[in-house]
Amino acid sequence: MQNNTEPGLVMSASYRHIKVPTSGEKITYVDGKLSMPDQPIVGYVEGDGIGPDITRACLRIWDAAVEKAYGGKRKIHWCEVFLGEKAAGLYDGNYCPDETIEALRDLVVSIKGPLTTPVGGGFRSLNVALRQDLDLYACVRPVRHYAGVPSPLKNPGKVDVVIFRENTEDVYTGIEFKSGSPENEKLAKFLREELKAKFFEGAGLGVKPISAFGTKRLVRKAIQYAIDNGRESVTLVHKGNIMKFTEGAFRNWGYEVAREEFGNVTITEEQLYSEYKGKQPEGKIVIKDRIADIMFQMMLLRPEEFDVLATMNLNGDYLSDAIAAEVGGVGIAPGANIGDGVAVFEATHGTAPKYAGLNKVNPGSLLFSGVMMLEYMGWSEAADLITLVYPEVVSDGIVTYDFARQIDGAKEVSTSAFADALIERMQGGVDLNAKRKAQQEQLIKERKQREIRRLLQPTEEMISTGRVPHTVGDLMTRALITVSEDETIETVMGVMADNSVSSVVVDPNAAGQWGILTRRDIVTKVVQGNKNPATAKVKDLASRPVVSVPAETTIRDAAAMLSAKNFSRLPISQGDRIIGIVTETDLFNAIKKFGWTAE
Ligand code: NAP
Repeated sequence: MQNNTEPGLVMSASYRHIKVPTSGEKITYVDGKLSMPDQPIVGYVEGDGIGPDITRACLRIWDAAVEKAYGGKRKIHWCEVFLGEKAAGLYDGNYCPDETIEALRDLVVSIKGPLTTPVGGGFRSLNVALRQDLDLYACVRPVRHYAGVPSPLKNPGKVDVVIFRENTEDVYTGIEFKSGSPENEKLAKFLREELKAKFFEGAGLGVKPISAFGTKRLVRKAIQYAIDNGRESVTLVHKGNIMKFTEGAFRNWGYEVAREEFGNVTITEEQLYSEYKGKQPEGKIVIKDRIADIMFQMMLLRPEEFDVLATMNLNGDYLSDAIAAEVGGVGIAPGANIGDGVAVFEATHGTAPKYAGLNKVNPGSLLFSGVMMLEYMGWSEAADLITLVYPEVVSDGIVTYDFARQIDGAKEVSTSAFADALIERMQGGVDLNAKRKAQQEQLIKERKQREIRRLLQPTEEMISTGRVPHTVGDLMTRALITVSEDETIETVMGVMADNSVSSVVVDPNAAGQWGILTRRDIVTKVVQGNKNPATAKVKDLASRPVVSVPAETTIRDAAAMLSAKNFSRLPISQGDRIIGIVTETDLFNAIKKFGWTAE
């Protein structure tokens, strides 16, 4: 780490205490893109409590990874900026000096340790202040498991998601009115009298603003991340079935931004099934959505189904901590707050004051926030070096106190000794290419397995991955039983009985028209028409042309059509082909399983 007296650091004319290294170059952000020099200046905030211990250790590890990956061609020039207690000491009690905000904006990329939020005295939380002042609207939390790290899950290796949490809206905007206050009473009166709202007397009131602007910029970032990092899907997590005009609107705007701005690289999950039959096309990211409560279940039961999650402030708050707990908890969960042109990476835990200065705690959270930062900078080789050696060191049982108490036979080491072990392992030589290749092969294998499941058991997959059906394509039977028009009725009755179906689809005739033959057709036409089933042909009894609907037809429209036409089944068409069939029983079962919420 450089200190203030080292040559190569100058006090910028505009800064009181911040010394910008003259040896590096500024990172710039132009037209939505980072421009990354080989010798960038990156900001860091040491943090309070355990902050200095973990920051010291991490700076050494990041520098060693960059040196090892690029052989000296690239190097980070660190610029210390001040927040929290260290800032208060330098800036006359000011925990969040203006020049720090200015420097973080100017430096474009920075990383920070945990900060004490002084209680009382009218202080804004420093983290909230940073988010607001720098408009860091996306809180990004990658959560994945590293071999050897203790976890309550049976297969924690399957967890590998990146959560994009909206940082500026939702019930966190602080628009709240205390029960009994004049403001509360005024608002309650307005809601009751003008808008006919009903709620209990004396309720505390809060406002939940969710805008198209706030949603779209967040989802845009999540999709761009998925594109840049070769991810498979982006899931919009919401509770839109209950809060239609806030969380439901988030879902709709999320799909809208995908369609309008990323239409050539995204498909919806509906399309994945209806147009691509569950086989994900190369180069396309699947946009899907899940109800928030189901998402918690899914992250325990089928975490491998999810990749990038985009959600609102409150859902994101709960989800990121819950998912982090699946793979090692706050001690190693990294995070970042990112806006347009400014990114601040940060440890997600607090200052753990009882361990301050003891050189004892786990540097993992800050370390992996730095890994995210290196990836954000496009320096993935250095990032990969750290993620590759980390599980090796932990699996050898070299860990800090928090893991040592959960791993039998582990050797507890200090923060700095853990850093030494990582650096030593990196310098000992890591076959980055072989490891990356093995990881890639594993990824492809898992994708293939998921694809096979989607192809073979679409409805079971829908249920077990938490998908809610929206269209008839989601519910249709694809294993169609078809017969030729020249078959006898007797043969077809045998086919129906053997397969326990009440209808068969009839192959197209010379005019290309598909048909359908139902049990009811047979009963009425054979009996009333005095036909002999052994000699009568399918073409004599089938209904032609068949009335069909496309797979994208909503369940609501399909139900209306069944009722209007007095049908009990609908063949599903794609172009001039019949590709499946959905029956009244399928719709009945879907409503029984998933319920029905008015739209
Ligand atoms: P905390 O500092 O996160 O500590 C809670 C517990 O988490 C610690 O006692 C320790 O558990 C464990 N822990 C945290 N960091 C760890 C690490 N690096 N390695 C191993 N274990 C770790 O939460 P807090 O005590 O609620 O908050 C203390 C202060 O931090 C408050 O001033 C709060 O405002 C601030 N805070 C800041 C941030 C931030 O800057 N991002 C975030 C949260 C809180 P054991 O006791 O079981 O060992």
